Amino acid sequence: MINPWSSASLDYEKLTRQFGIKPFTELLGELENPHLLMSRGIIFGHRDYGRIIKALREKKDFAVVSGMMPSGNMHIGHKMIVDQLIWYQKNGADIYIPIADMESYSARGIDFESSRKLAITEYITNYLALGLDFKASNVRVYLQSKNRTVQDLAYELAKKVNFNEMKAIYGFNGSTNMAHLYVPLIQVADILHPQLEEFGGPKATVVPVGPDQDPHIRLTRDIADRFKSTYNFVAPSSTYHRFITGLTGGKMSSSQPKTAIFLSDTPEDAEKKVMTGKTGGRESLKIQKELGGQPEECVIYEMLLYHLLENDEKLQEIHDNCKNGTMMCGECKSMTRDMIRVFFEKFSKKREKAAKIADKVLVEY
Ligand code: SF4
Repeated sequence: MINPWSSASLDYEKLTRQFGIKPFTELLGELENPHLLMSRGIIFGHRDYGRIIKALREKKDFAVVSGMMPSGNMHIGHKMIVDQLIWYQKNGADIYIPIADMESYSARGIDFESSRKLAITEYITNYLALGLDFKASNVRVYLQSKNRTVQDLAYELAKKVNFNEMKAIYGFNGSTNMAHLYVPLIQVADILHPQLEEFGGPKATVVPVGPDQDPHIRLTRDIADRFKSTYNFVAPSSTYHRFITGLTGGKMSSSQPKTAIFLSDTPEDAEKKVMTGKTGGRESLKIQKELGGQPEECVIYEMLLYHLLENDEKLQEIHDNCKNGTMMCGECKSMTRDMIRVFFEKFSKKREKAAKIADKVLVEY
């Protein structure tokens, strides 16, 4: 069982086999201009993404839904979601961003007002600074607790879901509190509400997630089918991305500061943190020259792959030089440190500007 509230590390291949997620590579050739996260295999899986490709090709309306649960500071791994939203925005999608304050309350005990403040000062600020255009008419960011349309839809959808089903999907038991039990249905409504008549009616919708969120996707797709005769819902598509590795080698986590580079870090802090990152280097320089390094086990290489280096040829060169033992980790780390400093110097200025306008983007329903 995979569960969106646990932090167990995931075996991506097993997941695709066990839960029927399809490999994203099978679709790459059909995309005119895939995002780097797609072409580099970081987005590794999908469900029914063919519908999105069709919408892109035929320039039809489609929606992207990507929630944020305000519960801590955003780290550089979270940037991946915003990068995808920006790509979809440029490709004509309607973007829906629910702020999951109801989930934050039920799962983490964070009250609505604290969630609202954190969403503005941290999440919306970073989304703006990373380049998502909230002024565009195709972006809606809202608080679940203030969205009556979503709440009403969740209540209606709940009629065709029973406790045994929730137990089987999420592992809920007799001591699960009722708010926690109900909140997945709010998320189902978050994903399906762009297909209501008032938002343009049924349409292809994609939800880009980490694989830990797949239980929500499966539940939503089942419920969409159950309400097909009422709303003519199109079952949502989804994509699945790998998680970036933490600096110490495990999962990067906001609750474990030593593992993470936060988007609110100063350029100096980010630089220092990169230098602590676990590499795929060998026990000694002599052995590394003989055997080469292991970029596939290297946090530094992941930083370049996911975020810092857009040029595929240059990335390939670093990969090859690592593998054949002509580049050593010291040189590679220094280069990455310089790149992250440049990124954070620019980004922290953008964050300052974004912070001044972040409270103006929430949509009132
Ligand atoms: S040379 Fe670079 S990519 Fe290779 S293991 Fe060392 S730090 Fe990682």
